[in-house]
Amino acid sequence: MKLSKRAQSIKPSLTLSITARAKEMKKQGLDVVSFSAGEPDFDTMLNIKEAAKKAIDDGFTKYTASSGIIELKEAICAKLRRDNWLDYEPKNIIVSTGAKQALFNVIMTLIDPGDEVIIPIPYWVSYEEMVKFAEGKCIFVKPNKDLKIDSEELEKHISPKTKMLLLNSPSNPTGAIYSEKELKKIAAVCLRHNIVILSDEVYEKLIYDEKKHVSIASVNEKMKEHVIVVNGVSKTYAMTGWRIGYAAGPEDVIKAAIKLQDHSTSNPCSIAQKAALEAINGPQNHIRKMVYEYKKRRDLMVDRLNRIKGIVALRPDGAFYVFADVSSFYGAGVKGSIEFCERLLNDAYVAVIPGIAFGDDRFVRLSFSTGQDHISRGLERMKKFCEKI
Ligand code: PMP
Repeated sequence: MKLSKRAQSIKPSLTLSITARAKEMKKQGLDVVSFSAGEPDFDTMLNIKEAAKKAIDDGFTKYTASSGIIELKEAICAKLRRDNWLDYEPKNIIVSTGAKQALFNVIMTLIDPGDEVIIPIPYWVSYEEMVKFAEGKCIFVKPNKDLKIDSEELEKHISPKTKMLLLNSPSNPTGAIYSEKELKKIAAVCLRHNIVILSDEVYEKLIYDEKKHVSIASVNEKMKEHVIVVNGVSKTYAMTGWRIGYAAGPEDVIKAAIKLQDHSTSNPCSIAQKAALEAINGPQNHIRKMVYEYKKRRDLMVDRLNRIKGIVALRPDGAFYVFADVSSFYGAGVKGSIEFCERLLNDAYVAVIPGIAFGDDRFVRLSFSTGQDHISRGLERMKKFCEKI
């Protein structure tokens, strides 16, 4: 059958293909160390699982309101007030099947063919494809030395067709966090040019060294009308498989996104919604324990990487990824990040993700969502591999 132009234009996910290859090698009995995970390796907390079991036992197994149950929307509003200084009502919230669907809905709701969407490099893999799906045009902006965008650089890329800026802080793949001062400058540029900001904040709780997450929607009183905040329970509560995310924004945008969801997937899983309600309203102390563990792993990984001659790795402030510059190895033997990753997997049995998947070929991404033993073992192999190139 002839595929639609839309389907043909979507690129396969490079992150998924490397992960699949590593899994295949493991299945063959090879001892592969994988740093490719895009999800917490912790288990979902017991109280959350119990809430889901109770939902099943109570027969909470039918369709719900397409945009999510009211209790969950209220809990999300309380969370946004408590954590982000943002005042929303349930009519400003849509609960979706993961933050991914929330982002997709908002992009499809706001972007017309030809509209320009500014995406800072490096970016999370799905942004580009989502914008292409909506027939928007991606405008990529190069990062500064901290792997963030400057407001001056942002302004240079704005045209009369610019509709949206996609901002992700803390960032996947760099872990970089925008400070309040930086966000204020970006907000001022976007206000001046009437640009919508889609703010992906899914890693907001995974932050190290007393750094602070600030939502760009909260930096001044005008911003709320210009920002759609996206968040979810996947990363904060180790609930990637449950598929609950949400968007908060101006009522007309949320209403339109709900129409899209009404006719595509309807409500996210009723049982997972009850679990997410417990996650958001229940005890939060496990987050601190997770962050404490991640921080130890981050420091181990960054220190071991920087001991490899030729690799430069910034210490990430958030999320669970290190974005390491391996471009000094490029030349006759290795052409770019894909080849670096393929050779590392084939020769040393270590799986990492090529930076080109995030728009920057100088780098590779390593996830430290894995045990310290694993990190030590994998980086020992990576060191030997790099010494041989
Ligand atoms: N945004 C970013 C930056 C992510 O890394 C991810 C997950 N990899 C998502 C959104 C999607 O998360 P969810 O599981 O809630 O769909």
